[in-house]
Amino acid sequence: MIKVYKGTFIDTPTPESFRVRDNHYALCDEGVLKSLTKHVPREYESLPVTDLGPGIVIPSFIDLHIHAPQHMQMGVGLDLELLDWLNTLTFPGETRFTSPEYARELYPLFAADLVRQGTLRAVVYGTVHSESTMILAEELEKAGLKAFVGKVNMDCHAPPELLEDRRQSLEETEAFCLKLGDKGSIRPILTPRFAPSCSIGLMKALGALSHRDDLPVQSHLSETVSETRWVSDLFPDSRNYTQVYDQNGLLGKGSLMAHAIFLNDEEVDLIVKRETTLVHCPSANSNLGSGIMPLARYLDRGVSLGLGTDVGAGHTTAMYRVITQAVTVSKLLKILQREKGQRAVSLSEAFFLATAGNGKFFEKRGMGSSGVFQGGMSFDALVLDMGLPPVVKLTPLNHLERFLYSGDDRNIKKRISGGKEL
Ligand SMILES: [Zn+2]
Repeated sequence: MIKVYKGTFIDTPTPESFRVRDNHYALCDEGVLKSLTKHVPREYESLPVTDLGPGIVIPSFIDLHIHAPQHMQMGVGLDLELLDWLNTLTFPGETRFTSPEYARELYPLFAADLVRQGTLRAVVYGTVHSESTMILAEELEKAGLKAFVGKVNMDCHAPPELLEDRRQSLEETEAFCLKLGDKGSIRPILTPRFAPSCSIGLMKALGALSHRDDLPVQSHLSETVSETRWVSDLFPDSRNYTQVYDQNGLLGKGSLMAHAIFLNDEEVDLIVKRETTLVHCPSANSNLGSGIMPLARYLDRGVSLGLGTDVGAGHTTAMYRVITQAVTVSKLLKILQREKGQRAVSLSEAFFLATAGNGKFFEKRGMGSSGVFQGGMSFDALVLDMGLPPVVKLTPLNHLERFLYSGDDRNIKKRISGGKEL
């Protein structure tokens, strides 16, 4: 069925600048955008037009790194650093998902929160528990999201309640991936938590599984200095943290590595060579005092990049807030490293990452294109209205800037995924 929408559309087909098309008509066929033009094409003139109102329409957000079980601990214990935060709060919190009833109670709230904040696609961590993580996948599907969901793997350096036997970890992961399959709106992603919590044997087996079944991979890389030191003690045969993943077959085109703050040039070259995507999580990195990813330096070196909330170390599921945090921390890095000639990233670059940039991962994995208003892309959109009186003279772009910095979910009037309102 063909639908026609009228509105003022803003997107970023390239990172350099925003594209504004005011009072345009979007023609959608079965949820896929056919065209976005100033006038309705003649053959469709008789169709009814849905007016999206006086505000602006933007692509819906995509979160490339978020931990569903940590949703209830957002903002809690953020005076701690990563390894203490994991041991005192996060691991005990994740242990509770041993109970599927607990998962059934909490995961619908997580899914609803993503939709409320306009995040309609996401790459999500569960816990080591297959049953609870399958409940997470079901709840995301019910809420109308498109997502990759990972059952976490850990066979060392975790509390006994969360530790898996290597063989059991692999068998359960394979069964989990088979059950989710590769056709639906929720698909599996291999999720070795991070190198310290996985033995070489487990990482190698997951790497082989990824190659055999063409499965994507997500993990954490070089988030804090103390973690990086720990990794070099644990893996003396690897030259650096990035090489640990590479030597075990976990670094490829379909891999997402969160944080990547302290990479040396050799590691950055390897990331570029393997076409791995690094996921910047500025909120979490600031909260745990981990560091600032040199985002502009990576962008300028041609690294594939994405953006994530990293809830619960990130304190909000709102990608619009993470966009502005990415800009803010890059400005701080520019101030702190003036002698290195660091540049700050622009708002359009950060917005691009959270929409078109993150959308590329879904496109690469055969989940349809999203993140830009272009013919052939899934019509995934948010209708925003800042509710300002007409005497206030702001351009459509000013409205978007105001929303990103100081708006909230009350300004999101409609959420559309594949042409369907959620
Ligand atoms: Zn994380």
